Amino acid sequence: MKKIVESYKRKLASEDGWVLKRGAQLRIALCYPNVYSIGMANLGFQAMYELFNNIPGVSCERVFLPDAGTTPSVSEGSTSTRALPDGRAIAPRRARMRALPHGKASDTEFSRNSSGYHVTNKKPLSSINEFAEYERLGTPLLSLESQTPVRNFDVIAFSISFETDYVNMVRMLQMSGVPVWSKDRTEHDPLIVMGGAASFLNPEPIAEFTDVIGVGEGEILGAKLVDAIVESESKEELLLSLARQGRGFYVPFLYLVSYNDDGTVNAYTPTEEGVPARIGRAISAENPKEGSLRRAIRRGQTDIVEQLKRDEVFAPSTTIFAPQAEMGDRFLVEISRGCSQGCRFCWAGYNYWPPRVVPARDILAKAKAWRAKTDKIGLVSTAVCDHPEISEILQGLRAMDYRISVSSLRLDQISDELLDALVESRDQQIAVAPETGSDRLRRVINKNLTNDEIVDICGAVFDRGMLTIKLYLMVGLPTETDEDLEEMIKLVERIKDRMLEAGKRFGRAGKIIPSLNGFVPKPNTPFQWEALCEEKELKRRLKWVCKNLARIPNVEVRAMSARIAHEQALFSSGDRRVAPVIEAMARLHGDLRAALRETGIDPLFHTSRTRSHDEILPWEIVDAGLGRPFMEREHERAHEARSTAPCPSVNQCTRCGVCPTTWLAEAPPALVQLKAFASAALVSG
Ligand code: SF4
Repeated sequence: MKKIVESYKRKLASEDGWVLKRGAQLRIALCYPNVYSIGMANLGFQAMYELFNNIPGVSCERVFLPDAGTTPSVSEGSTSTRALPDGRAIAPRRARMRALPHGKASDTEFSRNSSGYHVTNKKPLSSINEFAEYERLGTPLLSLESQTPVRNFDVIAFSISFETDYVNMVRMLQMSGVPVWSKDRTEHDPLIVMGGAASFLNPEPIAEFTDVIGVGEGEILGAKLVDAIVESESKEELLLSLARQGRGFYVPFLYLVSYNDDGTVNAYTPTEEGVPARIGRAISAENPKEGSLRRAIRRGQTDIVEQLKRDEVFAPSTTIFAPQAEMGDRFLVEISRGCSQGCRFCWAGYNYWPPRVVPARDILAKAKAWRAKTDKIGLVSTAVCDHPEISEILQGLRAMDYRISVSSLRLDQISDELLDALVESRDQQIAVAPETGSDRLRRVINKNLTNDEIVDICGAVFDRGMLTIKLYLMVGLPTETDEDLEEMIKLVERIKDRMLEAGKRFGRAGKIIPSLNGFVPKPNTPFQWEALCEEKELKRRLKWVCKNLARIPNVEVRAMSARIAHEQALFSSGDRRVAPVIEAMARLHGDLRAALRETGIDPLFHTSRTRSHDEILPWEIVDAGLGRPFMEREHERAHEARSTAPCPSVNQCTRCGVCPTTWLAEAPPALVQLKAFASAALVSG
């Protein structure tokens, strides 16, 4: 135990910004189900740490999966690469800046550690193998700040961005000595809470491990949860009061799930009066709507601009400076949430509608405060260039001499100004996402760009002397044919030719790095009814594309495995019956095949079945606000290769159903206000 404590203290000594509040009324162990280096790069995790600790009387400490010796580094293309929550597997740079509370992931490369659990491949920060030390001594899992056993906390709250971390989550519960299944826990055990992008997209695979699941955005839910805990006399009273709020909290044990003879969900039946049939998504509503702000700026309506740019915006940003962690030497700040485009494979787009922004003023003020600590800044957003004030932000940051990097670049929105800023900072390899190789298939996924436009955009990057570019591509999309794959090869060749042409002027050649990922259909997207491409067929397509790309000079292809795509699909689209597989994997060192054998679960039922529009989908227990007719229409339009205009992100729109149901009309005021700090005052210190 001494070695573990020393290892934790070394980590704390390398950080700046952590807190330890003694004598708190409520103690929360905030768990990230992966190792320290990757957890600290997650902005949602850091935001919750800040929010909880800002509440008087509440102390929040961090807990991570212990560091362990990693197996030799695997690149994408190994079986351990993991996928983005939007249906695409991860591509390295972007995933590393995986800060969003909505978890648009990073592409850090992953492996299984010596114990079989998913970890990042980056250097472990501990000089000892913490994992082995825990196992050798049987020490219960400890918190980082005070090295207190996690089971001694009042609340154990997991922040989960990726389905593939479910196994780590269960393993951490096992290591804590807390009963894994909620039905086995008593009044004396800590309350187990799950939040984060993956857990509210489809909570069902983890429902039976959990006492309560946060449905929506943490800025709203954190303080609400604390209020309810402090005001309740018993666990039973607490869970009932949370469930009855109707929005934001899902208490799985208060619902009975019945199934049809064919195995599909028949109904979710609340077991107590006042518990809603479905749980509404809670969203942070004070941030101005992107489209409304853009329009007001364009029209010179300064009074409206000022009204939209309120001063109460909470922008998740780096709280703890941890230079030794992934991305730890840079200040990360979320500049916007949600993406207007509505790409039909991308859950992050739909599930964070409406798109909202943090005003430039707030971003620049935070950046100024951090400049003494670092000259590197990462702008976190699903669509950086959509920000109506992006020009002001870039100018302000350049004036502060920041080296700027971004979490993702949307091809249709790349501006000369942003490219110049990225080139100047020399801090980032440019990565763009054509997604596929044919214009037809791009209309199917509602990504409205042509191959000509993509080649031109890449050319603008090359002409600035950045001759290496990464391309995110997906294989196995609905309606994909071999002709689409052939077009993918041709597109990469054209981009390579354009790079060589620009390279002549600079006297050198660069590299094209296609990153191939298997498409995984995600809940709450128009592709939620689609089957995953059958494993053997997906393998064939990936192999064919890899082989043909590898023949092109100056092209270095990377690819995920078909098997990983299937594992992700099981956890993202499964129902409650998948939980025993997760529990078994946690015991069996991450061995999925052994877990499936032991539990007898048929994974193909959950992954490889085309669902009918009449079916009740397991994740529909959550009402994300997206209307069924809208989603079904989008699904049909995909099969007709018809594109749809982006979300306008303005007031009074009713098109997809999100704004009228989650924000403007019927939402209880207390749940749509971003008043985390105000309501926190209810808890005495
Ligand atoms: S209702 Fe309209 S503005 Fe609101 S998220 Fe849907 S499409 Fe966008």
